Amino acid sequence: MTTREACQARDANDPLAHLRARFVLPDGEIYLDGNSLGPLGVNVAARMARAVENEWGRGLIRSWNAAGWYEASRRVGGRIAALIGAERDEVIVADSTSVNLFKLLVAALRLNPARHKVLVATDDFPTDRYVAAGVAAMTGAAFATFDPGEPEIAIDRDTAAVVLTQVNYKSGRLYDMKRIAGAAQAKGALTLFDLSHSAGAMKVELNRCGADFAVGCTYKYLNGGPGAPAYLFAAARHHAAMRNPIEGWFGHAEPFAFSEGFVPANGIVRMLSGTPPMLSLLALEEALSAFDGVDLGALRDKSLALTELFVALADERLAPLGFTLASPRDGASRGAQASLAHEHGYAIMQALIARGITGDFRAPDLVRFGLVPMTVRFVDVFDTIVALADIVKARAWDKPEFTTRKVVT
Ligand SMILES: *Cc1c(COP(=O)(O)O)cnc(C)c1O
Repeated sequence: MTTREACQARDANDPLAHLRARFVLPDGEIYLDGNSLGPLGVNVAARMARAVENEWGRGLIRSWNAAGWYEASRRVGGRIAALIGAERDEVIVADSTSVNLFKLLVAALRLNPARHKVLVATDDFPTDRYVAAGVAAMTGAAFATFDPGEPEIAIDRDTAAVVLTQVNYKSGRLYDMKRIAGAAQAKGALTLFDLSHSAGAMKVELNRCGADFAVGCTYKYLNGGPGAPAYLFAAARHHAAMRNPIEGWFGHAEPFAFSEGFVPANGIVRMLSGTPPMLSLLALEEALSAFDGVDLGALRDKSLALTELFVALADERLAPLGFTLASPRDGASRGAQASLAHEHGYAIMQALIARGITGDFRAPDLVRFGLVPMTVRFVDVFDTIVALADIVKARAWDKPEFTTRKVVT
């Protein structure tokens, strides 16, 4: 049996243990929801104070030039590019993930006008499916779902675009991006990957896999803060021909010419539409410094070790209590999260949160834990499993304050 002491020893020998100090984490709390809202970076509050007091307060409108606000979307995009296997000028920060999905999917369909089908992974995040179905309805394309484990079956010569989240938000299943991009390319379909649950937790290799387009949110593993703007990627080979369906002045070749007609900017900049949320963008920029000098391969190794420990302990201590593993057993197919199904999952999670251990719940019955390698310790995994076992054994979840559903789960 794995002991708490053995977990403490692993933390003591963890070469990435120092990264935790790059974040503000409340004492005594175990935070396993960094896959939904990443924690606050230690320098972000001071950066925000400077942005508000100096740049906005004193610099006023001059800060668009003097403080580098105007270039920030590109600058921060370039930093994210390094985390997702793209070139600096292939990534830009803008809008939300949902909006970027819309923009890139319409752009992809226009690049593939003779085809009439959009495919989305069966159990993909709802917004990805809603946006894709909406774009299909708007453009007259057919909408269908597919099993990303067997992409060769569904992708055919009428498929214009394939949308897939690399790591599934519920199960944490990691799909083979290279295989899916290859299957799409072989049939002439374009790919649009959502990296919301992979970027920042592992090495993502967009260009090596041959991806065409990608989006992702920055408030999860990238720790950009609530509502931080998302990013979008388009492979350089598409830049000249792609068109943004929301052509706005920020995507214009010369925004301050205020000219009559729209002329798209060169490159990825044409995918911008309007003014970015500057304060959130600057918070994100500072938050990304947590990745400075971090080896993404080592991050992935720790992440695998954490989820492996979780699975082993869950088998040992939770399986007899009605929990079943809802994440892949095979590490190579698992992202940085672990999910368990239990019929009283919602109330169990509420009881766990009341004990200072925060994960989240995903309907209908999943308790979900983000084992973010930058901040989570082996001993946190151990304590969580012990607490879950205790909550179920003592029926501590069976109280009105835990069984009543809140709006955000
Ligand atoms: C979190 C997440 C989103 C979020 O989209 P928003 O537009 O930021 O609300 C979209 N897709 C996936 C796969 C996600 O995990």
